[in-house]
Amino acid sequence: MSPTLVLANDFAQLWDTLEGPALAAMQRVGRSGWFILGKEVQAFESSLGKAWGLNHAVGCANGMDAIEISLRAGGLPVGARVLTTPLSAFATTGAILRAGGVPQFIDTDERGLMDLQLLESALQADSTLRWVVPVHLYGQCLNLTTLARLRDTYKLKIMEDCAQSIGATWLGKPCGSVGIAAATSFYPTKNLGAMGDGGALLTNDASLAAAARCWRDYGQSAKYVHALAGLNSRLDELQAAILLDAVLPLWGKFTHRRQAIAAFYRAHLHHPHLTCLPVAAAEISVAHLFPVIVRGSRQAFLAHLQAHHIQAATHYPSLIPDQPALALTGLHLPVARHLAAHVVSLPIHPFLTDVELQRVVSACHAWDAE
Ligand SMILES: *Cc1c(COP(=O)(O)O)cnc(C)c1O
Repeated sequence: MSPTLVLANDFAQLWDTLEGPALAAMQRVGRSGWFILGKEVQAFESSLGKAWGLNHAVGCANGMDAIEISLRAGGLPVGARVLTTPLSAFATTGAILRAGGVPQFIDTDERGLMDLQLLESALQADSTLRWVVPVHLYGQCLNLTTLARLRDTYKLKIMEDCAQSIGATWLGKPCGSVGIAAATSFYPTKNLGAMGDGGALLTNDASLAAAARCWRDYGQSAKYVHALAGLNSRLDELQAAILLDAVLPLWGKFTHRRQAIAAFYRAHLHHPHLTCLPVAAAEISVAHLFPVIVRGSRQAFLAHLQAHHIQAATHYPSLIPDQPALALTGLHLPVARHLAAHVVSLPIHPFLTDVELQRVVSACHAWDAE
């Protein structure tokens, strides 16, 4: 008999855990007869803002829309260049394009995050650059002290992509608190996952929040008054109710388990061809993903894990500018390109057991890279 599969995500166990409160939430919404932008969305927005430490949360249809709406509500001029990272979900750059921006890519550092020294060089070289969309990738947190200094020195408008990093901090400050807004996603695999699509933007700027509420709802400033040519990007009552009653109460526990798994990998994974990403002492990561850098054939390592019944993935196998939709091939982005060619994400999710974790580490150790 072959061993059970070590999953990258375990949605069956997730449902076992959420079933009671999720069904109750569905029943409440069903009985209310109110399905879009109502009490549930308001209550969830308020709880999310409090949990995050930002004053206003605005629910949207998904994370990509949350980025686009943040940029639009923040006043991104059409055609403005937006400095961003080449190593992320395509949605980061996709949202910049949808908002009318022109992405310009800054290489990453060895943690896979936008290299803030290179960012500063770009800002020094061209004083017209104002807009920056960094990503707190893999659950990590960028150096917020440096980010805040760059914001003040160069009068930047920063929109932080926090889709993978809700709850991550730098010296106790939450990610998303330096920019004009934070955008996040409730895609099911994310640290705060809904049972479908969802997203939100968070901000301390009341007027930006008001503009975002307008943008997400056909640009309506009042019923049948369209102040803007807006989007349809609303969070469903059903998703908000499930997030509020079933998922948000477990979010802290889920995050702790992810962090414990990451700590276990760091303590026990010793293989000359596998390297964990460096950690920053000032940071608390929420361990959304756990990439290791493979020296040797990534293909062979992935095949080896598969043979040991372990689901692994690559985040991300190619850089955003290299995607056919952009085809900006050949940009000089050596660090991000090296990561894209060599990272493998090991399983990390709240239901991973200690036995499974040990199996992953043993399988890694059994890899003969020669
Ligand atoms: C998931 C993700 C998004 C997009 O979120 P969706 O809800 O899928 O639109 C954006 N940025 C990053 C870094 C992500 O991981």
